[in-house]
Amino acid sequence: MTAISRKTIQTKDIQRNFVEVALPLPLQQTFTYSIPTEMQAKIAIGSRLLVPFGGRVMVGYAVVFHETLNDEFALVPSSIKQITQLLDSEPLLTIEIIDLTKWAAGYYVSSWGEMLKASLPAGINAGVEELFQIANSGIEYLEQNISKRTQKIELLQFLNENGETSFKELKKKFGGAKVRGISKELHEHEFISIIHQTVTAKVKAKQQNAVRLLTTKQKNSPLTIPQQKIIDFLANESQSVTISELKGILDVGISPIKTLAKRGFIEIFKTEVRRDPLFGFALPKATNITLTDEQSEVLSKINKPLRSQLYRAFLLHGITGSGKTEVYIRAIKETLSNGKSALMLVPEIALTPVFSKRLRSVFGKEVAILHSSLSTGERFDEWRRIRNGKAQVVIGTRSAVFAPLQNLGLIVVDEEHDGSYRQHEMPFYNARDVAIVRASNANAVIILGSATPALESFHNSQIGKYEYLSLPNRIENRPLAKAEIIDMREVFAAGSDDKILAPQLLKAIEETHTRGEQTIILLNRRGFSQFVLCRSCGESIRCMNCDITLTFHKSQQKLVCHYCNHSVIAPEKCPSCESEFIYFLGEGTEQIEKILEQKFPQLRISRLDRDTTKKRREMEKVLSAFSEGKIDMLVGTQMIAKGHDFPNVTLVGVVSVDAGLSMPDFRSAERTFQLLTQVAGRAGRGDRKGSVLIQSYYPDNYALQHAKEQNYKEFYKREIEFRRSMNYPPFVALTSILIKHPNHNYAFENAKILRNSLDSANKRKQCIVLGPAPAPLSRLKGEHRLQILIKSRNRKHLRQTIDFAVAEAHENNCDMKIVYVEIDPINLL
Ligand code: ADP
Ligand code: ZN
Ligand code: ZN
Repeated sequence: MTAISRKTIQTKDIQRNFVEVALPLPLQQTFTYSIPTEMQAKIAIGSRLLVPFGGRVMVGYAVVFHETLNDEFALVPSSIKQITQLLDSEPLLTIEIIDLTKWAAGYYVSSWGEMLKASLPAGINAGVEELFQIANSGIEYLEQNISKRTQKIELLQFLNENGETSFKELKKKFGGAKVRGISKELHEHEFISIIHQTVTAKVKAKQQNAVRLLTTKQKNSPLTIPQQKIIDFLANESQSVTISELKGILDVGISPIKTLAKRGFIEIFKTEVRRDPLFGFALPKATNITLTDEQSEVLSKINKPLRSQLYRAFLLHGITGSGKTEVYIRAIKETLSNGKSALMLVPEIALTPVFSKRLRSVFGKEVAILHSSLSTGERFDEWRRIRNGKAQVVIGTRSAVFAPLQNLGLIVVDEEHDGSYRQHEMPFYNARDVAIVRASNANAVIILGSATPALESFHNSQIGKYEYLSLPNRIENRPLAKAEIIDMREVFAAGSDDKILAPQLLKAIEETHTRGEQTIILLNRRGFSQFVLCRSCGESIRCMNCDITLTFHKSQQKLVCHYCNHSVIAPEKCPSCESEFIYFLGEGTEQIEKILEQKFPQLRISRLDRDTTKKRREMEKVLSAFSEGKIDMLVGTQMIAKGHDFPNVTLVGVVSVDAGLSMPDFRSAERTFQLLTQVAGRAGRGDRKGSVLIQSYYPDNYALQHAKEQNYKEFYKREIEFRRSMNYPPFVALTSILIKHPNHNYAFENAKILRNSLDSANKRKQCIVLGPAPAPLSRLKGEHRLQILIKSRNRKHLRQTIDFAVAEAHENNCDMKIVYVEIDPINLL
């Protein structure tokens, strides 16, 4: 066991006797193994290995070689185990990614092995299978003892008859515990051999039949018309063509192809084909855009460090529709022309079809796409194209920050403020911040782009960490949408029939439709009703695991917990007082859609939220139908607020923002401001002017007021003062420690040990330590959640305090398995 050293990864050649292996376990250390002589020539930094660990065999990653063992091991070299197997002849991981994941694991107090695993596409991270085989001495033993009916003999006989057999199959036949017991003994006697192999079945390169021309002419061989067509086509084609492509292009059947092959004109062979995530999608036409003066000025500032290949971080603050994407595209072009590669990160899957199609239409098939809703096969193919240097441009979501691009020249992080760059489970990381470090390591340029920069990023541009670039005007000076806040208290007081949709909004929808224009209605929750309330006893129905209100989903007649997915049949009577006056309060996307359908039967309405978009193609279909004008109104959650460009949308209605504002989180105002600005940016992208109507019970809130004016700088001024006075980021470095356990006392006892350790680490009071207190979501998925917050104006002090406290808590028998340290958390729920 070795703590991860801070020194950079070695590349110079040394005798490879021992190797440091990072394992995908929640442990912040690497493990030392010896390398069998025959493996020493083949193993490399970044190789995946099978190694024994705690009675099983695991996949790990080679990260450092040693010629000799250091002092720690000199006394007990016998405790060093050997590598079981080398999995890849060519290492999958690049030195750059090994370095980057090492930094990320250290910074986020996470596991290096888990970070490495997260950097690889899922299909590659194979499981391990044990295979049992009878050995020669086993056969001899079996022959001598065949008459005995012991389990040992039965197992040997089974292996003798069936050949190589997996543990799984043996378990089915004999039971797991027995197989373990017997095989251990048989193995010790060398009657059987056990080998480990990775289960790779999940992804393989896809093969297809292709054809290649051998000759165009043969004596005495008249050709039919389809046959001649094929020969002519192939004669002009420099590359091989798959049979399915050929059939599609020439509209011919399989039989002329087969005949030509039989007669020796062409050859049919297997070739590897790419599963293309954009196969069959119409691409937008690449238009010839002349940059505006503002765009040109911004681009020339970006091009300078691109040409000199120096690290530079830019914050591109451009309002929605100001032409940021066009600037990204030009910067990528410049990068490619300098012989370098480019990585573009986007926050959500909802954005990738739009952007990736736009990039594909400019850069062609070179663009690789990486996001989690690709099929395993597609992701595997895309990842390998990047690893093999075939894709010079990559667009992807969060984990694409670890894409193994060589020779990186540019990273673009679009919508850099977006919360989905943050990974909320182990291994924790924020892809935007990892991207900054990656760019700096690679001497690359990074552009963080947003209409509503994260407060931290804007602050960084103020203090000179990032160079500030701005695009303050919309293309062609299209006016910004006019925003208005509808005071729902007035609507309620006026006794209108509609308590959910204000009359002003209904009227605007009507008028928009009459003009032949489109509407987006935004709501921040899915489901039908927010929650179910009893009017007799006032009880709301809550999740038994999470203690938050359940949401009614009408189509399934169920109440669903949006945190743990626990669901119950919607009751007809109140579960606590049996009254029949239960009342569905608040509203969800499904209910709004229903109401709108009733009010506007002439409108074609579609809904887009996580319920309707479980299927990726489904969502893409709705989005393209909307952009083609086949749908009049889109109702949805925040996923429709971002990035899309629908020129015919002139009205955006925001039905409920209040839920977001009342979230117990210091970023709730910032998030609400961002959401409203983003969604307002969806209106009036074309030639016509747009309007935005925001319904709220808190119309005076500053986040709403500044969003209404689309005034980022005023919002920033107000919000940054709040952060300064209340000691929140960016003025302090923040860490949250969550302690989670089904048993509250157990969680609390451990939290107390941690708090004591933090106090003794913080004797000089360089940090503020708060808690343990119940986290805002105090119960989730059956676990009690306690939170300790640590703040400091000095990041180094904060980190030292945490490292020291964690070590001491561990020594004082704190159960570290239930402790989750989150550096720079983005929300505190
Ligand atoms: P953003 O990414 O800032 O929201 P986009 O780059 O998507 O903005 O630009 C908004 C719209 O304006 C797009 O339809 C885009 O094609 C168009 N556009 C961008 N730059 C120009 C330009 N220089 N001239 C004309 N149209 C442009
Ligand atoms: Zn729940
Ligand atoms: Zn009741």
